Amino acid sequence: MNTVIAQDPISTEEARAKIDRIQEQINTVTEELAISTDSVRFVGASKAQPLATLRAFAEAGINACGENYLQEANSKFDELERFNIEWHFIGHIQGNKAKQVAARFAWVQTLDSIRLAKRLSDARIVSHPDEPLNCCIQVNVDNEPQKAGVSAETYDELVATAGELPGIRLRGVMAIPQPYPELDQRIASFKRVKALFDNTSPPQPQYWDTVSMGMSDDFLTAIRCGANLVRLGTILFGPRPPK
Ligand SMILES: *Cc1c(COP(=O)(O)O)cnc(C)c1O
Repeated sequence: MNTVIAQDPISTEEARAKIDRIQEQINTVTEELAISTDSVRFVGASKAQPLATLRAFAEAGINACGENYLQEANSKFDELERFNIEWHFIGHIQGNKAKQVAARFAWVQTLDSIRLAKRLSDARIVSHPDEPLNCCIQVNVDNEPQKAGVSAETYDELVATAGELPGIRLRGVMAIPQPYPELDQRIASFKRVKALFDNTSPPQPQYWDTVSMGMSDDFLTAIRCGANLVRLGTILFGPRPPK
């Protein structure tokens, strides 16, 4: 028989120490780059993390979290309502979920089609008439066939269309580069994402300010390559518990 060892839930103090540690690491890099500390921020990638863990981090002051699955996110929202958490959607969005995602999240980092953009915008102007949904276009930077995100060919059209929709505020790009073991290759991918961001002329350039890339094992490298939003799961919350 397998012995399952239940993990003790993390305490608020431990959660605060983890947040502080990450912030210190980010500060070291922003100092090195001579950019302001608050120009780079992180979202906690909280998929598969139990509510007790999230509550500890919420009490410790985490202010942004990303979820990949609507149903799972819904089960966390009510319990965490009293905290001031900005919710990001960072998973693939099925068409029939667009309406709820638009209504319940502040950000969608995984915009990858015109059809989805229109659905999100239509829903958002109903749920939040004066508060467009912040969106990043997910780019498939390494052209991986199985991975979500737009290719270079469809990118321009999506920027032009989504950038004009009334329910969307187009903020930038998001990418999950291939996890090459070679750091140099990852750096090349990150730099391609940053170059794409820099070379884009969106319809409303005043909101175009976000490069979301970098996860637990490469976020400091990503920041050095121009990321200003990193998505951290394991390094913050610990390993994801098995389902
Ligand atoms: C899970 C996830 C992350 C965080 O991954 P870690 O390696 O645990 O930091 C970041 N971004 C997305 C889109 C994810 O799904």
